[in-house]
Amino acid sequence: MFKKILIANRGEIALRIQRACRELGIKAVMVYSEADRDAKYVKLADEAVCIGPAQSTLSYLNMPAIISAAEVTDAEAIHPGYGFLSENADFAERVEKSGFQFIGPTPESIRIMGDKVSAKQAMIRAGVPCVPGSEGELPDDPVQIRRMAKAVGYPVIIKAAGGGGGRGMRVVHTEAALINAVAMTKAEAGAAFGNPAVYMEKFLQNPRHIEIQILADKHKNAVYLGERDCSMQRRHQKILEEAPAPGINRKLIDRVGERCVTACKKIGYRGAGTFEFLYEDGEFYFIEMNTRVQVEHPVTEMVTGIDIVKTQIMVAAGEKLPFTQRQIEVRGHAIECRINAEDPYKFIPSPGRVTMWHAPGGPGVRVDSHVYTNYFVPPNYDSMVGKIIVHGDTREQAMARMRTALAETVVEGINTNIPLHRELLVDAKFMDGGTNIHYLEQWLEQHKR
Ligand code: ADP
Repeated sequence: MFKKILIANRGEIALRIQRACRELGIKAVMVYSEADRDAKYVKLADEAVCIGPAQSTLSYLNMPAIISAAEVTDAEAIHPGYGFLSENADFAERVEKSGFQFIGPTPESIRIMGDKVSAKQAMIRAGVPCVPGSEGELPDDPVQIRRMAKAVGYPVIIKAAGGGGGRGMRVVHTEAALINAVAMTKAEAGAAFGNPAVYMEKFLQNPRHIEIQILADKHKNAVYLGERDCSMQRRHQKILEEAPAPGINRKLIDRVGERCVTACKKIGYRGAGTFEFLYEDGEFYFIEMNTRVQVEHPVTEMVTGIDIVKTQIMVAAGEKLPFTQRQIEVRGHAIECRINAEDPYKFIPSPGRVTMWHAPGGPGVRVDSHVYTNYFVPPNYDSMVGKIIVHGDTREQAMARMRTALAETVVEGINTNIPLHRELLVDAKFMDGGTNIHYLEQWLEQHKR
């Protein structure tokens, strides 16, 4: 096992990884920007290295600074967390070339999955169900493009192969708009992602977002840890997640999970990963894979009892997965609310000094947050300041526990989206379960204030 790990991230996930290191008896090195100098998790680390100013391009995205921090502290491995450099194949490669273990998949796996066209082709080969569409990059010939769209059926969505973060896609409803939409998406993709390749998919009208968590080791073992429902989104960003997904046939999920495991074995995947699907009319359609730990990983940890971050570290060190598929059991129900420093209805970021922070507690309640009273939320990064996660024997109990937890939580000095979560937790449709990816946007439209 490693003796020392460098954590190349900030905020709640940096603290989460630090906690996993403590449990494994591993020393944790934190890197931090000038904006995060006073954060408690930085002070709690065994060692801490400043890697640059607040601006993330000069600090958390600064590869040479992070690698030299690992060198001067004698760390053996680097955990990238999520966001920042976590899905950057060049970073993973530089980390390994410099003699450190990257806690994540190989650079090749990141590359295959980072390009949505090659990811989809790998999935089709492994028998994972995908959204119908062009099987590869769109050709230049407009006649061929029109023919493809006709075969797929309108509406279609044109997506950038290199896209991410909900950008680089365009929905097309009619043949008249098709060729122009392809040209525009290509131009944008070239400018934004340095790759003008685009592909076509059927645009699903009312899907849910369901994803499958997997874990794999370096010895060709892979398992899936059930699914998460992340349909509660605004602007393609998740705000509330739960496991298991309400009302979906277990056998169907098991079949899709097994295909994901097959895909992992085929590409020699290692570490944690998530297969994201759209789910509509009883069918799963793969959209993309995330090759890192995700924000919403705790709901899976709560229902399976498996520590995903610890397992990431163990398999990176070469250990075998300590469990088999048969030993994985999903128990009860878990819900996560992301706490963002923002206006709850308009989503305007609200950084600043937290004058009062009181976290909830009680049976089945977990809080993953680096925030404390008097903490300053810097304006330079993502607005998420923490997550409240609850577990219950049933979905009803989990919802009741979340309502209590949200009622106990006090955050003063900044705006947060807690009022929005409180309303969602008593919303009749949410309580029924199974709302689709447009539900929250429609709800916000109806509850305009
Ligand atoms: P990104 O990497 O930018 O997050 P994804 O491929 O994961 O891109 O898609 C992001 C979101 O866009 C999905 O969660 C869904 O809301 C929407 N979307 C993507 N593809 C389709 C599709 N074929 N039909 C309907 N919605 C889609």
